Amino acid sequence: MKQIVSVILALALCVGFSLPALAADNSAVDAKIMEIEKKYDIHIKYETDPDGSASIGTGTLHTLDLVLDKITPGIVKQVSAYVKEKTGHKLTYSFTYEGKLDLDLPSNVGVHGVFYEETGLIEIFLPSSSSGTYSSGDNPLAMAHEFGHALEWLCRSKYGAQKLSSEWQALGGGAAYNVFDGRGSYSTTTFVSLYASSSYEEDFAETFAHSVVRDKAGLGFYHLLSKDGVKTALGKKVDYLAALLPKCLQNADGLSAHLKKVYTTPVYREFQNQRLTGSHMQYIGYSYPRYVLRGIMNSPEVSDEIATSRWVSEIGGWYVVSTTNRYYLVYPGGVVRQQPAALNIAA
Ligand SMILES: [Zn+2]
Repeated sequence: MKQIVSVILALALCVGFSLPALAADNSAVDAKIMEIEKKYDIHIKYETDPDGSASIGTGTLHTLDLVLDKITPGIVKQVSAYVKEKTGHKLTYSFTYEGKLDLDLPSNVGVHGVFYEETGLIEIFLPSSSSGTYSSGDNPLAMAHEFGHALEWLCRSKYGAQKLSSEWQALGGGAAYNVFDGRGSYSTTTFVSLYASSSYEEDFAETFAHSVVRDKAGLGFYHLLSKDGVKTALGKKVDYLAALLPKCLQNADGLSAHLKKVYTTPVYREFQNQRLTGSHMQYIGYSYPRYVLRGIMNSPEVSDEIATSRWVSEIGGWYVVSTTNRYYLVYPGGVVRQQPAALNIAA
């Protein structure tokens, strides 16, 4: 989601700098932040709770590292340098509580992130009721999506804004963009998600994010990329992205090759002697696991409360242990699989 409202930005920053009453120990988070900042040449900020403790844990930063590593450090550095050239600031990820933006969205739509082009700031929103059990904001699609806006900005300048948007929209075969209301249908072989059908900018960011993140069992959309041997509009968009990036960036072949992995996603994956599946499920929107488990899915077996959850790159989803000691895989979009036994995943 992209929003250009400088007044709102100023408000958000004020809250972020409120002083803690007591010194909390955020050293583990701060150490991980330093490591990521150095690796990608970006800046990372977080909001603090009233007691001074960081609003995020190292798990969220681990997820950010995984996402940026898939995009590759060299590409992240180039985008960050471009953002700095334009704004005076490196590309910045800021983890902050939601509820400060007034975007006039339908009640069924949650905001997961924003990219501000004027300042090069990406905000990733944390649910305000996230205390304890779930590392909120731990959504790799949102992290990649907002990066996708910064990437599109760079590509626009190198490739030509008019040329880029007109070529992209031609790939859709005349499909129109519609105002996003969080409902409605869309062609799954044209758009990678409902949100992608809302505008060229969101289509670009969504197609990029899904291609980066959904490269594992259960998350692939290779079945939507061609029909009867003919590339679909969505397949053409993925191919276009893979071809575009080396024209706009140096050493983009690694990222292009990663995007192409969406064509080879396996139907299932063997992991720790358990078969993980979940493919061929229609993506229904961004969902945090705790929301999924609390009833977005109409399945009685997933009404458990979460004890712990962790994004696991090898799985391509969240591994969730419930308070009743059941084990779930939760994939972006609300696909839930109960596993017969625990997996060996560090909390
Ligand atoms: Zn967006």
